[in-house]
Amino acid sequence: MITTDTETADIFGKNKSVLITNVIADNKPVDIFIDAAETISDIGPEIRKRHRGEAEFILDGDGALALPGLANTHTHAAMSLLRGYADDMILQDWLGQKIWPLEAHLTGEDVYWGTKLACLEMIRTGTTAFNDMYFFMEDAARAVDEAGIRALLCYGFIDLGIAEKREHECRATEALVAHIKAMNNPRIRAATGPHSPYTASPEGLKWCAEFARDQQIGIHIHLSETEKEVNDCVSQYGKRPAALLDECGVLTPRTIAAHGCWLDDAECALLAKRGVSVSHNPASNMKLATHRALPYPQLVRAGANVCLGTDGCASNNNLDMFEEVKIAALLQKFFWNDPTVLPAPAALLMATKNGAKALGFGTGVLAAGAPADIILISTHASCNTPLHNAASNLVYSCSGAAVETTICNGRILMLEREIPGESEVLTHAAHAAAGLVKRAQTPA
Ligand SMILES: [Zn+2]
Repeated sequence: MITTDTETADIFGKNKSVLITNVIADNKPVDIFIDAAETISDIGPEIRKRHRGEAEFILDGDGALALPGLANTHTHAAMSLLRGYADDMILQDWLGQKIWPLEAHLTGEDVYWGTKLACLEMIRTGTTAFNDMYFFMEDAARAVDEAGIRALLCYGFIDLGIAEKREHECRATEALVAHIKAMNNPRIRAATGPHSPYTASPEGLKWCAEFARDQQIGIHIHLSETEKEVNDCVSQYGKRPAALLDECGVLTPRTIAAHGCWLDDAECALLAKRGVSVSHNPASNMKLATHRALPYPQLVRAGANVCLGTDGCASNNNLDMFEEVKIAALLQKFFWNDPTVLPAPAALLMATKNGAKALGFGTGVLAAGAPADIILISTHASCNTPLHNAASNLVYSCSGAAVETTICNGRILMLEREIPGESEVLTHAAHAAAGLVKRAQTPA
């Protein structure tokens, strides 16, 4: 049990100075002190002696494992409303017959409640930062602001080669970036979001790359999820998708490319050379049967930063990064027929250090001066008994249900599995999802 010395009701909300005692980080027993700021001010063995007097709250970690908050580097948060709406279908039918017709009826209010639901689920399962692409992103930004976690938000730019549509997408992107900059919230940043090389034209891709460079912001794109899109790209442009993106200036150290299942060796080398972060989305890839796993060994050999994402809730169907870490480690071993591929410590780094690097939020390690994004995982749980090897248990045995406490930017968002306001979010999100389906089924 994690206990505090004061009323828990007071601990949520604004930053307080918090001393976390008796936790295990990197296999060492430590205490962690956050001095009411947004960063970890001290961490080490027995530092409680130094800080006990200063702390407004003392959390007895009771031997919990402390990790940096996890980073989900590819999702569509508000798709939480579509969870379980359509499964077990061919990708194009699933999109064309189920997902897109429903999304056509989305409102800003739906996206707000869908993103609130997603943030709730992320806090509950230990994720403190995510990379999001969707529509009505001003409403998503409001939800993230209230939820207390970090996000890199982009508008999904789709011009389909139509000049008029491209103008609209450019203006929508500019409006979102201006809106997020005006929010002036260090937890929320904007990116450009050219959806993919098959939905955004070369002109649109170039515009997104140039605008991102001018604004010094990131780029979030889908890349080579299916074999078909790679073949189509070769027939249409005479080159593979990564080469096309490179020509359009999209491959930069600020770029996160999701999926990457069908990358070849030359593309892996190109992405590494350009400093692109590649987000592996194994659960979604398996569910939609992309027929090939991300070439993780080739990317790592080439020196690329490989991180991890859940993709949206319609194709996963949750946002639990602990599950995703396990699925990544298993899929990589299975697909490449080698049980030594993606060992547990490396899998954990994909969700922490590599993810933080991709998102540009902190370092993804627990250290003095690092952002106070911390999760505590109970060791008094069956998934952590016995505890021969913490990395092994965290990757292969635990799910997000083992997370007891989540802190982001120095603020406690979940304590002993309690998240203030949870039932209100669940009620409103369920109501929004039901309304959305009803509107989609009502003839116009
Ligand atoms: Zn996606």
